[in-house]
Amino acid sequence: MPGLYVHIPFCEKKCIYCDFYSIESFRRYDDFISALHREIDMRAAVLPDDIVFHSIFFGGGTPSLLTDVQMGGVLEALRARFRVEADAEVTVECNPGTVDASQLRGYRSAGVNRLSFGVQSFHADDLLFLSRIHTAEEAEHAIGIAQDAGITNINLDLMFSLPGQTPERWMYNLERARDLGTTHLSCYSLTVEQGTPLARMVVRGMVAMPPEESDAELFTLTMETLEGWGFRQYEVSNYAREGYACRHNLTYWRHEDYLGFGPSAHSTWQGRRWWNLSSLDHWLGAVDEGRLPEAGGELLDRDTLRREYIYLRLRSEGIDLVDFRRRFDADLVRDNRAFIDRCFAGGTLRLEDDRLLLTREGILLCDEICAELE
Ligand code: SF4
Repeated sequence: MPGLYVHIPFCEKKCIYCDFYSIESFRRYDDFISALHREIDMRAAVLPDDIVFHSIFFGGGTPSLLTDVQMGGVLEALRARFRVEADAEVTVECNPGTVDASQLRGYRSAGVNRLSFGVQSFHADDLLFLSRIHTAEEAEHAIGIAQDAGITNINLDLMFSLPGQTPERWMYNLERARDLGTTHLSCYSLTVEQGTPLARMVVRGMVAMPPEESDAELFTLTMETLEGWGFRQYEVSNYAREGYACRHNLTYWRHEDYLGFGPSAHSTWQGRRWWNLSSLDHWLGAVDEGRLPEAGGELLDRDTLRREYIYLRLRSEGIDLVDFRRRFDADLVRDNRAFIDRCFAGGTLRLEDDRLLLTREGILLCDEICAELE
């Protein structure tokens, strides 16, 4: 079932590694909130009104900059304009440095039932290096007040492969996350994105990124540890306790439709993908003129859909070979027989009930395997 995504393009301070669209100026914050309502109205007006959505996800940027009243207002607008299931999953990404107890109680009353905290690390020096605005203690406090507010479906984003990070330091982060009673973990390795301050630091020799072997070691440690604690790895970087897989993210990984609102938000709808203007000023300009703020779009042809299907499914639930044949009129295993046999022999792919899945070793080589299958 389709999902709704809302991009909040503000951050108190940019983190050195981040290449998501967000700005540190709040000059046009109020304009943004009003325009968001108008974009929701405009999009709803051009779509049929019989489609039911099962998730809403506020990402960014820092969605937790919204007050509970603003959050409630946007949720009310979405529910008024679209058919949203009564028990839809409603997630808000939170920076632990921007939340308080009464705000989170307000979020809960407004219908938010899942929070995703960008914690990244419980070590003070890591947080300083990543230029996060919060301390480890603030992150722990934030999780506690969320749980007190009645929101117990909680994800933590944690980051490994930081310069100088040892397995012991990484284990400490995983243990803290477990002990805080979180239900979901997203564990990503720190990647150097072009154009970020981190990329410049690496080029200037101020930061040395860990070698690939150490990244693989921490990744394997993560998979083994979390599985041992009862978390299921349902996507390469995502682990959930039973019943807590993120419904919204599954929408992406299952290649289902979603609508995005706000600057730089992407949408995929009935074979077409489009993306909004990134710059807040340009996005506001379009909405002010009564235009949908799209920057571009494309029709998803069969080859693109097939490539994305392979990539997204292999990273998550595996490729259902019967479904693949039905969608693309092709036999994936027969067409890639030699390569797939090598993967079976090498222990990177396995077959289970007509489903092609990555093994733990295969997860480390996910991109390479997907590239061959394309
Ligand atoms: S708070 Fe999140 S979105 Fe904002 S700069 Fe940091 S990582 Fe990026």
